[in-house]
Amino acid sequence: MMEKDINITDAEWRIMRVIWTLDSATSRELIDILGESMDWKPATIKTLLRRLSDKGIVKTKKDGNKFIYTATMDESDTIDLASKKFFNQVCAKKVGSAIAYLIDNSELTQADVDKIQTSLNAKEPVEEIECNCIPDGCNC
Ligand SMILES: [Zn+2]
Repeated sequence: MMEKDINITDAEWRIMRVIWTLDSATSRELIDILGESMDWKPATIKTLLRRLSDKGIVKTKKDGNKFIYTATMDESDTIDLASKKFFNQVCAKKVGSAIAYLIDNSELTQADVDKIQTSLNAKEPVEEIECNCIPDGCNC
């Protein structure tokens, strides 16, 4: 998997979730679905699609007089990258608490719990984590 820096806004995630669900979508389909569920105007959806295409997250194929949009990255890789990006933005010492918070506040199936348990069992803890906040500015 190519390591790219992904930067997807909340609105763009909405579009991507539809594209991932349908595998590919025309702008018409996206306008029908998101115009309805999000009350977005066609122009808004087209702008979002252009941005996603500029970012290389969707690719466009022309089919007759319509455009078909497909994702260039699969959904789970994108979620992994976005999670990693988020955790890179918080103090290294607070990542553990953030993960515990996510677990406490997420609906999880037995299969999810088993997967997390397996990851935890295999995890090699480190002795100490260095705070990466501004020097002297934090009390982590
Ligand atoms: Zn810190």
